[in-house]
Amino acid sequence: MPPQDSHHPHQYAWTAKAVATSDSSPRGLSEKNKRPTWDQYFDVIAKAVSTRATCPRASVGAVLVDKDNRIVSSGYNGAPPSSPSCFDTACRMENSHCQTATHAEVNAVVFGDRERVRGSRLYLYSSRGDISPCNECQKVLTAAGVSWLR
Ligand SMILES: [Zn+2]
Ligand SMILES: [Zn+2]
Repeated sequence: MPPQDSHHPHQYAWTAKAVATSDSSPRGLSEKNKRPTWDQYFDVIAKAVSTRATCPRASVGAVLVDKDNRIVSSGYNGAPPSSPSCFDTACRMENSHCQTATHAEVNAVVFGDRERVRGSRLYLYSSRGDISPCNECQKVLTAAGVSWLR
């Protein structure tokens, strides 16, 4: 089985141009001193964010990044603050989707500054391997002015 992240460099082709511009100056660094690309960097952060998820069905992490590659906001999937999580009670299932947890992308939008969220781009990690936002999240992201991999 291939390592879980092996597909990411290709999946994020839409940011490849920006990355190539900002990372085009290795200045003769040896291979081991080369820094990760921005995509690799934010993929790792999204994965770290996902470890805080509170739904046993999936651990998802979302990171919103602005045009200068500054992190705007982050979020993971889980019940709203002070509500019982899927670990406290079982997932409340409807149409084979957990209704207890708020999705990571929505939390990232909700807890970010509105002006900085607008125009940002989404990095998403899911322990289930599906890295495209669901239909509900796509509507929220569109309303907030966030772009994502299609
Ligand atoms: Zn759940
Ligand atoms: Zn969603």
